[in-house]
Amino acid sequence: MLTGKTALVTGSTSGIGQGMALKLAEAGANIVLNGFGPADDIAALRTHIETTYKVQVDYHGADLSRVADIEDMMATAAAKFGRVDILVNNAGIQFTAPTQDFPVDKWDAVIAINLSSAFHAIRLALPAMQAAGWGRIINTASVHGLVGSTHKIAYVAAKHGIVGLTKVVALENAGKGITCNAIAPGWVATPLVQKQIDARAAAEGISVDDARKKLLGEKQPSMAFAETDQLGALAVFLCSSAADQMTGVTLPMDGGWTAQ
Ligand code: NAD
Repeated sequence: MLTGKTALVTGSTSGIGQGMALKLAEAGANIVLNGFGPADDIAALRTHIETTYKVQVDYHGADLSRVADIEDMMATAAAKFGRVDILVNNAGIQFTAPTQDFPVDKWDAVIAINLSSAFHAIRLALPAMQAAGWGRIINTASVHGLVGSTHKIAYVAAKHGIVGLTKVVALENAGKGITCNAIAPGWVATPLVQKQIDARAAAEGISVDDARKKLLGEKQPSMAFAETDQLGALAVFLCSSAADQMTGVTLPMDGGWTAQ
C-alpha cells in the first residue's frame, strides 16, 4: 500500500515511534529512523526492518531540541529518498513537578522536543509534499493534548499545542492531497511510562505491579495499556486512501480515558 513512499518517524528507536516505523515498513514504506540509543541496538533495528520488510532504512541521530539538527535530518532524508512523503512527529519526553517547582530548563526542553520540533519538521517537509500533491503528517499528541493532569505543565501545554498545530496545517493544506492528524494515546507500556511507574513504586513503597495497576486504575477504564503496534496500525490507516478525507482531527486510543 505504501510501496515507493518514504516515512520519517521521529523518536523511532523506542516505544510508540518504533511501533509506527515497523507497521509503516510492513505496509511497504521506506523508513528514516530517528532517536537516541545504543548504536548496536539501532543498527539491529535497521537490519531487522530491512530484512523483514524488504524496504530501505536510513537513520539520522538528530537531537530534535536543535533546529540545525532537524534541518540536517530533513535535508538528508530528501537527498536520499527524493522527499519525505509521510512525516510522523513522535519524539517526546516527560518531566513531572508541581508548576511552582518546575525547572525552567525542563520547560524549555519539553516545549522544544514535544512541540517546536514538529513545527520545524513540518515546515521543511511541506514544500515537497505540496509539489507532489500527496503527503501525510501524523503527530503523536496524547490524551494530555485533550485533558490535563497535575504536575505535567510543560507536557500538557506542548501536547495541547500539537493539537492546535495539527488543525492549522490541516486547514492550510486541505484539498491539496495532504492530511495532518494527531494521535492521542492514553497509557502505553513504553520506557517513558515505565519510568513513571518505577518512580511511583519507589515513592509509595509499593511493588512495580501494584504501581502499574494504580496508574491504570486512576485514568484508563479498560485497565490495559494500548500497544505500540496498535498505534502503528492507526498510523497506517491514516496513510491509506480510506483516510483521504480525515484531516485536522485528534484520535484518542486511550482505553476510555477521555470518555470520562
Ligand atoms: P519512549 O521514551 O519509549 O520513546 C521516545 C523516543 O523519542 C525515543 O526514540 C527517544 O530516543 C526519542 N527522543 C527523545 N528525546 C529526543 C530528542 N531530543 N531528539 C530526538 N529524539 C528524541 O517514549 P514513548 O512512550 O514511545 O513516547 C513517544 C511519544 O508518544 C511521545 O511524544 C510521548 O509524549 C507520546 N505518548 C506516550 C504515551 C505513553 O503512554 N507511553 C502516551 C501518550 C503519548
